[in-house]
Amino acid sequence: MIDVSKLFGSMVFNESVMRERLPKEVYEELDKTIREGKLLDINIKNIVANAMKEWAISKGATHYTHWFQPMVGLTAEKHDSFITKDEKGKIIMNFSGDELVRGESDASSFPSGGLRSTFEARGYTTWDPTSYAFVKDDVLYIPTAFCSFNGEVLDKKAPLLKSMELINKHALRILKLFGNFSVKRVIPTVGAEQEYFLIDRELYKKRPDLIYCKRTLFGAPPPKGQELEDHYFRSMSERISSFMKDLDIELWKLGILAKTKHNEVAPSQYELAPVFTSVNLGTDNNQLIMETLKSVAVRNNFVCLLHEKPFAGINGSGKHNNWSLSTDTGINLFDPGEEPQENAQFILFLSSVIKAVDNYQDLLRASVASAGNDCRLGSCEAPPAIISIFLGSELEKILNDLEDGKGSRESEKDYLEIGVSVLPKIKKDNTDRNRTSPFAFTGNKFEFRMVGSNLSIASPNIILNTIVAEELSNFADILENTQNFKSTLKMLISETIKNHKRILFNGDNYSSSWEKEAKKRGLYELKTSADSLPKLISSKNVKLFLKHKLYTEKEIRSRCNALIQNYCKIINIEAKVMLEMAKKEILPSTLKYIDFLIKLLNTKETSSTNFDTSVEKDIIKTMVTLTSRLHKEIKILDEFCNPINNLTENGSYFCRDNILPAMKNLRVVADEIEVNIAKEFWPYPTYGEMLMGY
Ligand code: ADP
Ligand code: MG
Repeated sequence: MIDVSKLFGSMVFNESVMRERLPKEVYEELDKTIREGKLLDINIKNIVANAMKEWAISKGATHYTHWFQPMVGLTAEKHDSFITKDEKGKIIMNFSGDELVRGESDASSFPSGGLRSTFEARGYTTWDPTSYAFVKDDVLYIPTAFCSFNGEVLDKKAPLLKSMELINKHALRILKLFGNFSVKRVIPTVGAEQEYFLIDRELYKKRPDLIYCKRTLFGAPPPKGQELEDHYFRSMSERISSFMKDLDIELWKLGILAKTKHNEVAPSQYELAPVFTSVNLGTDNNQLIMETLKSVAVRNNFVCLLHEKPFAGINGSGKHNNWSLSTDTGINLFDPGEEPQENAQFILFLSSVIKAVDNYQDLLRASVASAGNDCRLGSCEAPPAIISIFLGSELEKILNDLEDGKGSRESEKDYLEIGVSVLPKIKKDNTDRNRTSPFAFTGNKFEFRMVGSNLSIASPNIILNTIVAEELSNFADILENTQNFKSTLKMLISETIKNHKRILFNGDNYSSSWEKEAKKRGLYELKTSADSLPKLISSKNVKLFLKHKLYTEKEIRSRCNALIQNYCKIINIEAKVMLEMAKKEILPSTLKYIDFLIKLLNTKETSSTNFDTSVEKDIIKTMVTLTSRLHKEIKILDEFCNPINNLTENGSYFCRDNILPAMKNLRVVADEIEVNIAKEFWPYPTYGEMLMGY
């Protein structure tokens, strides 16, 4: 029997370990630093470092690493051992305060989008004491932010922390206006539901596309996919169940509250949901969840695929980003509440989200843009590329009334005046959920469903925090300067609803009529990364970043470049892998099959018996036609990939308009060949084998 309470957080240098291992004054100082987000006093950092080292060694650590999240990609680490020599040449384990708080790193090899050239390659990492250090594989991991030597931000953590500060500042201003002075801090919270696939490792090793790209670039649909809807929430096989147990143990050790796990809609697809926490910790935890999924999978002879669309024709994987605002007094600001004064405050916070999402649809879309996620967004199972908000009919009706200034609902009894009456209880009922919405209000939080399974949740949360902070600050500017708070508040809310209700949509987001309707409403539809990434540097958005000092213009431009380059590189790699598979295996296999058929035909024709050869002739004809079509598509794609296209905005359009369509055409022919060729001639494990165990 596992003692979960003993196991949980056992590899984390968390609050209780700190309390136990640090002198009382030092602990209190550090705790204050963490709670108030201050800089660490130089006098205590040596004491903290030493306690951390002693604890880490007791957990088997021999090395430490400053763990950070570069602009593109997931996490990075460089291991240093604690080993040093003392004056007498004896080996000791040492770790100083300086080593804890600041690490230097030659970071020229990380994508920076042109922010740094190699001659000024030095960057440094600084400890983020608000996210706990932990021990994994005998290494002490210290969560850090990453900057260039000139102070330019090179990672995702620094802007995330800044955005948390921003929303804290402006949410507090609003709370004060409502007479709420006891709250000292507002913290954005996140619970990220993670979807993933598990594939048998032996089969994975036979697919170059999975090895290089983590998605299948070829593959005909199996006779049965997910159409019977018999996978979702089904009981789990022994092998999967033992994987999940293993996974829970590893995550619990790291202090991650892995809570819900179940089979997802697609065959071989699963989901894991942790209990929510602050966005900073939640982001770090999600990185750890992804890494742990992969390592535990391998241990169980699986491979975990986090790609957003590993298999065509069946559901892809997303990461539902549940986001809300919590106070240090334990109140969820998106909980409608039961007291009259709470309803006005709730409606104002809700309005800030509506306004923010409408004004910055393009930024939200860009925050989840990647070559992988493009394969998923807009397909039938995933949110479309159009951003809209689902509030549910009840809440939308309330907003409509507030917009009219009618303030009256069905009867006098239900009279709704902001700040006076009680909001009708809003049902937190799952059945009222709209699963097709990219941004749904689910009772006391928002669920942003466009995030891709393989992405860091840092970027969408940076944007969410910042755009909502922006609208809260605009509201606060007005409300702080009015003589008549109540009437100004009413006016603000009614105007916000009037001007931004186009973003509200309760209907079916997958329907084609919505696409038309959204266009009429003037909403963005940014289908690909090539369309959405340049929005990061539109003048409206740069203005926002500068106003709140989130990024300098140079920083956001370099970030945009790095993401565009990444998009182009991924598509180029995929195209090259496709060409290699098609030229080296699919085409030769097809020719071999034709050769086999011809030999069969010859044998029959030269035999004295008068065999019927129409079947062979028919198949040969089909295969020959397919072969020449395949050859033609290979040549077209080859042409586009040679010379390698440039990694700029224009390059990204080239990928979108030429390379991707050519890849699609090549795949169509290859998949047709797979359907028609004899099993023993097909070089790769099929969808049926990988997904259904056939
Ligand atoms: P679902 O039906 O989508 O599974 P749940 O209520 O179980 O909905 O929550 C899904 C995720 O939302 C979980 O990871 C949960 O921790 C998270 N969540 C719940 N409340 C909040 C909140 N206030 N802030 C952020 N995330 C939250
Ligand atoms: Mg959900």
